[in-house]
Amino acid sequence: MQTLGNFINGVRCDSASGRVGPVFNPATGEQRLNVALSSADETRAAITAAQTAFASWKEVTPLRRARVMFKFKELMEQHADELAELITLEHGKVFSDAQGELVRGLEVVEFACGIPHLQKGEHSLNVGRGVDSYSLMQPLGVCAGISPFNFPAMVPMWMFPVAIACGNTFVMKPSEKDPSVPLRLAELLKEAGLPDGVFNVVNGDKEAVDVLLTDERVQAVSFVGSTPIAEYIYATASAHGKRVQALGGAKNHMVVMPDADPEQVVGSLVGAAYGSAGERCMAISVAVCVGDEVADTLVSRLQSEIDNMRVGPGLGLPEEAHMGPLVSKEHAAKVRSYIGSGIEEGAALIRDGRDFVCAGNEKGYFVGPTLFDHVKPNMRIYKEEIFGPVLCVVRVDSYAEAIRLINEHEYGNGTAIFTRDGDTARQFCEEIQVGMVGVNVPIPVPMAFHSFGGWKRSLFGPLHMHGPDGVRFYTRMKTITSRWPTGLRAGAEFSMPTMK
Ligand code: NAD
Repeated sequence: MQTLGNFINGVRCDSASGRVGPVFNPATGEQRLNVALSSADETRAAITAAQTAFASWKEVTPLRRARVMFKFKELMEQHADELAELITLEHGKVFSDAQGELVRGLEVVEFACGIPHLQKGEHSLNVGRGVDSYSLMQPLGVCAGISPFNFPAMVPMWMFPVAIACGNTFVMKPSEKDPSVPLRLAELLKEAGLPDGVFNVVNGDKEAVDVLLTDERVQAVSFVGSTPIAEYIYATASAHGKRVQALGGAKNHMVVMPDADPEQVVGSLVGAAYGSAGERCMAISVAVCVGDEVADTLVSRLQSEIDNMRVGPGLGLPEEAHMGPLVSKEHAAKVRSYIGSGIEEGAALIRDGRDFVCAGNEKGYFVGPTLFDHVKPNMRIYKEEIFGPVLCVVRVDSYAEAIRLINEHEYGNGTAIFTRDGDTARQFCEEIQVGMVGVNVPIPVPMAFHSFGGWKRSLFGPLHMHGPDGVRFYTRMKTITSRWPTGLRAGAEFSMPTMK
């Protein structure tokens, strides 16, 4: 069986660690490949390649760096179907969803194409008479990225296009569950003209990650994954003097007000809850209905929507499925056990996906769309991130109760409100303790030219990903205050200088 290795200093190379992990096709349950679990030394070799490449890459003009990004965009578009197929084969999401993921990643590449403008810095003429001030946004050096399984293309592309366009070099550690796409992206970057060593991929697990968090040559670490690991990454890399952005888990609530358009709510909610089998950090996993009437209507409509959903493999069906399998056997078992715990804790199970079997793909990791009503805030299915096709309906009596519920939850990634009332929506946007908010938009993922990030235990670190925060994260500001010799005639000044 083929073993995927690394991409270091412009070439694909095998790992000599002797450790591998299996990569499965979640739709069939068959093993596709092995992936190398690289050693600490191999990870250090990737950092060395990136460190060496930084010396010349930082000297390449922003315009030329942008041209590599333009070419990379063109190549990604040419190879879009191949890349989307790889995503589906290893992650399981349906092909059109994989295509959508690629587009959202590509948008960050397009954003990074604007780097000559984005990295201009600021300039003030005459901050004092004859004195000018300006800022330089300089690259940091070697940056590292560690990504989760659920967006094998998009999440790495939240990171490296901006980092590289800013003049940094990069070591990417993809998820070991679906590692093929990042390696292909490395090849396409090289084809686009990126010099060797600027972008490196090291496959692996904790052993590789720990080197990236502690090696003194790494200047910044971007992480996306589960909250316990995000917290560990943040604590460890910060303690080693690096800047860190570590995005964690989520439990995203959608508030349904009595005046919301029921058609719009149901259509939006089904896609947001069950698309990608619920394995999206911005999936809606809790619908908060204000009033029993709203909940009764919603639950009844959801049942018929669920009954009409097609669940199946992401490739090869004459009519594409709405939702594919979960990523692994273990994860499917975990989601099933959450459903069991919801029943034990007294929630009303309206649709049960535990026994779903996909005809022709009996060994695939499928769990059918599941719906709980009368979920209470003390239940595990409410408190914890399930990361599967399980939607919980919580009933509240008032808007104020809905707000309190969301604000008291440990996660604060995304949320949405569905209402026709502008006042309510405006107040919601102001009061809610969540990083990304949708008004009649169920999955409010910011576009590439805005920044993506949650609040509370969904993000550790001050700066969000891509957009203006991405450029700030991957650059260090230097502020110059300058006066030319004609201005130096005033003599020594012993009190705190103020501009005159
Ligand atoms: P994960 O935390 O298990 O793994 C993420 C990465 O960390 C992987 O590359 C993995 O190899 C590495 N890792 C795992 N354990 C480690 C350890 N002990 N030490 C060092 N590195 C380790 O996450 P996952 O299961 O791949 O992804 C799903 C999670 O990601 C969900 O919680 C989801 O909400 C979250 N996620 C969040 C966002 C966001 O924007 N906030 C986006 C996508 C996914």
